[in-house]
Amino acid sequence: MTRVALIAHDEKKDDLIEFAQTHEAQLREYELIATGTTGKRLMEETDLEIERKQSGPLGGDLMIGSEVAEDRLDGIVFLRDPLRAQPHEPDISALLRICDVHDTALATNLASAEFLIEGLAD
Ligand code: PGA
Repeated sequence: MTRVALIAHDEKKDDLIEFAQTHEAQLREYELIATGTTGKRLMEETDLEIERKQSGPLGGDLMIGSEVAEDRLDGIVFLRDPLRAQPHEPDISALLRICDVHDTALATNLASAEFLIEGLAD
């Protein structure tokens, strides 16, 4: 089954929730994982089932990165806050890097997230 990770920094969580609500029918076709707080909000505000990892600052990005390293993930939507440095920036960079190493689809804004979600459906 297609497996997709959803992650959003705090300033982008509202955008990700809205995106997930808009694409809920499509996302229901996928196995979904998310970082802790993002996953909690997604489960509260949509009917999607989410496997929650640790919160980002506690290692959630690295846990998702390890799935990329094992080729278990088909795509990641990661809405980052481009205006604020995050305390766990090294972990975020590691996740982006491992996606490039494994050629795993990665969308970091809403426009590319649309393509990713639709593209995985094909
Ligand atoms: P969160 O983590 O969903 O637990 O907030 C996201 C992140 O900061 O990478």
